[in-house]
Amino acid sequence: MRGFSTNAIHGSALKKDVHGALRTPIYENVAFEFETSHALELAFEGKALGHSYTRISNPTVEDFEQRIRLLTDATGVVAVSSGMAAISNVILVLAETGSNIISSRRLFGNTYSLFEHTLKPWGMEVRYADMTKPKSLKQSITEKTRAVFLETITNPQLEVADIAEVSSTAAAAGIPVILDGTLTTPYLFKSKDFGVAVEVVSSTKHISGGATTVGGLIVDNGNYDWSTCPRLKKASAQYGPFALIALLRREAYRNFGSCLSPHNAYMQSLGLETLSLRIEKSCTNALAIALFLETCTEVRSVNYPGLAASPGHETAKRQFGNRFGSILTFDLADKDTCFRFMDSLSLVRRATNINDNKTLILHPASTIFCEYSEEEKKRLGVPASMLRLAVGIEDAEDIIADLREGLKKL
Ligand code: PLP
Repeated sequence: MRGFSTNAIHGSALKKDVHGALRTPIYENVAFEFETSHALELAFEGKALGHSYTRISNPTVEDFEQRIRLLTDATGVVAVSSGMAAISNVILVLAETGSNIISSRRLFGNTYSLFEHTLKPWGMEVRYADMTKPKSLKQSITEKTRAVFLETITNPQLEVADIAEVSSTAAAAGIPVILDGTLTTPYLFKSKDFGVAVEVVSSTKHISGGATTVGGLIVDNGNYDWSTCPRLKKASAQYGPFALIALLRREAYRNFGSCLSPHNAYMQSLGLETLSLRIEKSCTNALAIALFLETCTEVRSVNYPGLAASPGHETAKRQFGNRFGSILTFDLADKDTCFRFMDSLSLVRRATNINDNKTLILHPASTIFCEYSEEEKKRLGVPASMLRLAVGIEDAEDIIADLREGLKKL
């Protein structure tokens, strides 16, 4: 079997380009014509394969989806317009008014906002559990539970749960696990091997190849029987193991209009080809920087799963093949000190993104989490003293030199 990088570069054999182009071109068009009206009818009924309208499918987007399918060994993949579109589309297919999902209490800020501010008013309950203690997860499950949701490494708290244990706890109750694998990507973590039913990824991050474009992925690992999910019963009878992908394509994804543009799919396919190189480099850089920050007296604490003292270290080591991602957080005295430090940096940029080629710094409490009360920030694990460093692929010594200078000025 070929390796990850080879598959990421060569992809799977789709239709040969009419001109023999080595890279699937950008099909920047909306509609596709059919030889006969009957062929058009069959395409609409889902009885014949073929592209009809780019909001539903497109050859450039399909090429990107099929590369991801090859890399994840999934049953099906749908590429969407953003990571948030991936999360919301999956939940809206699986859950209904009156049902609940159980989420990790530690989450990316916008996902928490989706749960609290969007899903709740639609009558969906979100219960929060400590995923590092699967027993607490067990206690939250009811007959109305439609999914368990967690992140591989939570952003920005960097909590790492034992995902196989979460999956087996959920499986014992017949519940599918949805995993946000943005911080690891299928390169560091093959979710199918850990019992995860659906992986969602913000391909805006590592995959886009240096923050070029916004996008998201929904990966159905093909290990969950969708006929047990009330919303998917009918689709299951018709589409069998492809029920989730079919209902996404024929309902949520189509009706919400969250398609990935062909241009973005092209850029992300290109990014995918160098993913392994960039992740390896940024993980190595992040560990070197975490070890450096630990030696600095101005730094009160450093949080990085690669540090032996980190609570998730052993689990992360086992799950992610001795790589620990490219994000770390550290605490300074208070918010004011954090701001002064950020403003003194010259190489590291002040910006809200992760997994760019450039190293970025952010004060999460006053940005991504600014809309939440002090009590909520406390519960979400986002103190005012915390800075998040999303490490890039520059030379580690240059990043460290910039941080050292900044700390000296405090
Ligand atoms: N999930 C995680 C863990 C993230 O960090 C982000 C964005 O930072 C998202 C989802 C949302 O991704 P996007 O910005 O592509 O919608």
